[in-house]
Amino acid sequence: MTVFERDEKVGGLLRFGIPDFKLGMDIIDRKIDLMAAAGVQFEVNAHVGVNVNAKQLRQDFDVVLLTGGSTVPRDLPIPGRELNGVHFAMEFLAQNNRRANNMVLKTEEIHANGKHVVVIGGGDTGSDCVGTSNRHGATSITQVEIMPIPPEKRPVNQPWPSYPMIMKTSTSHEEGCDRHWNILTKEFIGDDEGNVKALRIADIQWDEPAPGERPGFTEVAGSERIIPCDLAFLAMGFLHPEPTGVLAQLDIALDDRGNVATQGFATNQKGVFAAGDMRTGQSLVVRCINEGRECARDIDAYLMGNTNLEAKANSLMLSNA
Ligand SMILES: Cc1cc2nc3c(=O)[nH]c(=O)nc-3n(C[C@H](O)[C@H](O)[C@H](O)COP(=O)(O)OP(=O)(O)OC[C@H]3O[C@@H](n4cnc5c(N)ncnc54)[C@H](O)[C@@H]3O)c2cc1C
Repeated sequence: MTVFERDEKVGGLLRFGIPDFKLGMDIIDRKIDLMAAAGVQFEVNAHVGVNVNAKQLRQDFDVVLLTGGSTVPRDLPIPGRELNGVHFAMEFLAQNNRRANNMVLKTEEIHANGKHVVVIGGGDTGSDCVGTSNRHGATSITQVEIMPIPPEKRPVNQPWPSYPMIMKTSTSHEEGCDRHWNILTKEFIGDDEGNVKALRIADIQWDEPAPGERPGFTEVAGSERIIPCDLAFLAMGFLHPEPTGVLAQLDIALDDRGNVATQGFATNQKGVFAAGDMRTGQSLVVRCINEGRECARDIDAYLMGNTNLEAKANSLMLSNA
């Protein structure tokens, strides 16, 4: 089994996304070492679809499994988006994990020290930007979110076991930041040298949606204001995997959200499977571990005609109960 990884180290978002202060690289390295000891080969700096031909991989291997993640971030096409200092969250977070582990930064340095930081997006990635900016010594950190403030407790329309959309306050938030909800970001304002200096925002009020329709919002009259901002991080989620490169080279069918379409874990191409965020959209580590296990079972069945690998459908715990 060979893993092809375009970065110089494997680990994906665990290494180059989730901040080092939440997950140390020593833990990732230990897991990778265990896999290597079990016989897995790792080829790094191997960008499939760019410097590794994906079609050739299909010739060389019985099965190709696509686990490239969901990497295209949602953008914010407002005036001033092009100004210096406006970055996707991942540009900042990935670089900081490199810095924290004495690796080559590879991209223009982004540092929050002494800056007024605005994080746009109230989710977990935004929270990671808050924690990282605090560690850099930012002058101020403001996190804005377009959606309303979530409830503190599980709403009745989201019963267990569904994942409730409730208010989350992470340790990064506790370390210090201003959080605002129902905020429309209208314009980045720059100086004469093309650097972002401020952000024009306004309060919004969400309308009650008509049945079957998406809710709209109206701007609260007189609420428009300008806040200082010399570093902005766009943390508004991820859309889908990159459609170019390996997916285009292998002519992989996508679903209506732009993720890899699968039957089980099998793609439209024989012997090509997909798992993880590339298949489901941006998710969680535990879900991806589960995807890996379930997919391994499907691949084993494809190669061998049957499988005894443990998975949900063949749980040793359940069968022993
Ligand atoms: C900032 C951030 C913080 C997060 N924090 C948490 C958290 O605290 N807890 C949690 O459970 N989840 C968290 N998540 C989500 C979690 O990290 C992901 O759901 C999970 O890592 C996805 O795993 P994956 O293997 O599918 O993809 P990824 O982790 O994205 O790995 C994909 C790998 O494929 C490589 N790759 C892509 N294309 C190619 C190619 N063509 N050739 C070769 N290699 C390629 C990439 O370089 C990468 O190494 C976070 C996500 C982000 C963005």
